[in-house]
Amino acid sequence: MMIIVMRLLVIATGLVLAACSSKSDDSIEKVSSAANAESSLPITVYSSRAEHLIQPLFDAFTEETGTEIRFITDSEAALIARLESEGNSSPADILLTVDAGNLWHADQLDLLQPVQSDVLQNNIPSQYRAEGDTWFGLSLRARTIVYSTERVAPESLSTYEALADEAWHGRLCLRTSKKVYNQSMVASMIVRLGEPATEEIVAGWVANLAVDPLSSDNRAIEAIEAGICDVALVNTYYFGRMQSDNPSIPIAIYWPNQESSGVHVNVSGAGLAKFSPRPSDAIQLLEWLSGLSAQEQFAGLNLEFPVNPEVNAVDLVDAWGGFKADDIAVANFGAMQSDAVRLMDRAGYR
Ligand code: FE
Repeated sequence: MMIIVMRLLVIATGLVLAACSSKSDDSIEKVSSAANAESSLPITVYSSRAEHLIQPLFDAFTEETGTEIRFITDSEAALIARLESEGNSSPADILLTVDAGNLWHADQLDLLQPVQSDVLQNNIPSQYRAEGDTWFGLSLRARTIVYSTERVAPESLSTYEALADEAWHGRLCLRTSKKVYNQSMVASMIVRLGEPATEEIVAGWVANLAVDPLSSDNRAIEAIEAGICDVALVNTYYFGRMQSDNPSIPIAIYWPNQESSGVHVNVSGAGLAKFSPRPSDAIQLLEWLSGLSAQEQFAGLNLEFPVNPEVNAVDLVDAWGGFKADDIAVANFGAMQSDAVRLMDRAGYR
């Protein structure tokens, strides 16, 4: 069967989005209005994940099942706003995005619906899905410490909390607190340690910053390489990409909190849209994404960890060694996120 994947790339800025939205809507509604006719119509995925990370998977699904997938990529905020404004006429079957906080937010806005699936229940540990099974983690990302192998002895590292100690004064790089990854990480600390202790730690991090918070995890790793700072908190796949480009990069991963709470782990994941025109095909896609071959590919494409415990990470990721992960349910991150944002503001974390 011929594979035709229709692509609608919506440009991320609001103005451009507004300017081209009528065109996009037209082509989508065409599919939607015919969706109840026959089953050979495509599944529609709204994705905040980049095209090159999802296209190969969708192609493989289509090849296996004959069901085509069309997808729209945009920022999660734009996709969520779009789902909201489209309401029950939305052509979206699936929302695919990163960070449990974003998935939780979509769920709070009642944009998703529960999925009863033994396959998903079996493939995805309960801590990585919504309590009501409205969304499911599909890959795991560890937010951990990276350090200069030239200036830091790994024995001097221990926990996230300890990066607030005097010893790290002027040596720490952080990404901006506006990034949801940091909001989720601080949210998990609030759950575990309470607000006063978390605020003290975050204020300690701020006091130890070598430079103002950076715009991306990549900038933070590059700042270590440039000698601007010695340690940073980043998602491992950013480091993995740099390491795969430059295997001798003088930076390494450290797994903190191994004697206590474990490494902070978040998800990328997906949920069934509340008004999905093709729910059974969409569920089939979700189940397929949680299965063995898709998990291998999905985690490999972005150097993440598979959410399905039966699947191994790719070699480069595996080489970082095993670690104990925090066992908190990632759904907590969303619920605590506004508290985390306020706390980071009070602590002077910009
Ligand atoms: Fe990322």
